[in-house]
Amino acid sequence: AAPLVVAKSTTLAAKSGLLIRKRSSFEEARNIDTVIFDKTGTLTLGEFGVSDVVSSGDLTKEEIVKFTASLESQSEHPIAKGIVNYAKEQNIEYPQPNEFESLTGKGIQGEVDNKNVKVVSPGYLKDEQIDFDESEFQPISEEGKTISFLLINDKLEGFVALADQIKESSKEAIAQLKSMNVESMMLTGDSQKVAQWVGKQLNLDAITAEVLPDEKADFVKKVQREGKRVAMTGDGVNDAPALANADLGIAIGAGTDVAMETADIVLVESNPKDVVNILDLSKATYRKMI
Ligand code: ADP
Ligand code: MG
Repeated sequence: AAPLVVAKSTTLAAKSGLLIRKRSSFEEARNIDTVIFDKTGTLTLGEFGVSDVVSSGDLTKEEIVKFTASLESQSEHPIAKGIVNYAKEQNIEYPQPNEFESLTGKGIQGEVDNKNVKVVSPGYLKDEQIDFDESEFQPISEEGKTISFLLINDKLEGFVALADQIKESSKEAIAQLKSMNVESMMLTGDSQKVAQWVGKQLNLDAITAEVLPDEKADFVKKVQREGKRVAMTGDGVNDAPALANADLGIAIGAGTDVAMETADIVLVESNPKDVVNILDLSKATYRKMI
C-alpha cells in the first residue's frame, strides 16, 4: 500500500501547489530541523519602491536618478526595476550606458556620458574604503530600507533608498516553524542593518548579511556540519548553489529558471507558508508507511 500513499500525497502536493522534483528529498523533508530563507523575493515581495533620493555632492536629485537609472536599465535585479520605474514615474530621462557589468552581490558599473558610473551597496564602500558620512543614511537603513550609492569616477555623489515589503505569510510561516521546533534563518546579500530590521520583524532565529552567492552555499554546508538537516528556500540565480547544497532545496515559484531547475521542490506560488506544508505533508506521508 505504501506506493499508493506516496502517489496520493504527490497528487495532494500538486493540489497544494508543490511541484516535487526529487522524491527522496521530499521524503527527507520530515527530518528537516532548520530552514534557511533568502530575503529579497522570498521573505519579502522583492518589489522595491524608491523612498528617498539624497545628493551629497553637486548633482541635483534628478541627476542622481538619471545616472542611476541609466545603469539599472541594464540590470534584472529587483533594485534595478524599482529605480527604473521611479525614473519613468518622475519623467526623468536617462541615456543608454555604453558598457556595463555587474559587480556580483555588490552592484553594477558602466560608462554613462563618458564617465565611469557605479551603483553599489554599503558593503562595496566599506571594501573599497570609500569614506562616507554614516549619519546621513543610518536612520534610513535602520528602517529596513536598502541603500544604493552612486559613484561617478569613484567619487560618492549620493544615494537612492528603496523600500521592499515583508510578506504577511512570512510572519505566519516562521511562527509555525517555531512551534514545530524548526529554526528559521535568513541569508542575504543586503546590508547588516536591513537584515537586522527584517530579522526583528519576523522573529528569526539567526540572520547573516552581506553574503555573496558562493558564501550562501558555504553557509548551508557550515550549518549541516553542525549536525542540522537543512532546507534552503530562495528565488534568485544567486541562491542556486545554496539550493543545491541543502538537504532540501525549495525554489519560490516566481523565481528565476536557474533556481527552479536546481531545487528539489518548486512552490507554484510565492508563499513561504508552503514550506511548512512540505514538512507537514512529508511527515504525514511517510508516517503512514511505517
Ligand atoms: P539578495 O540576497 O538580497 O538577493 P544580491 O546578492 O542580489 O542579494 O545583492 C546583494 C546586494 O548587492 C544588494 O542588496 C544591493 O545592495 C547590491 N546590488 C546587487 N545588484 C544590484 C544592482 N543592479 N543595483 C544596485 N545594487 C545592487
Ligand atoms: Mg532573492
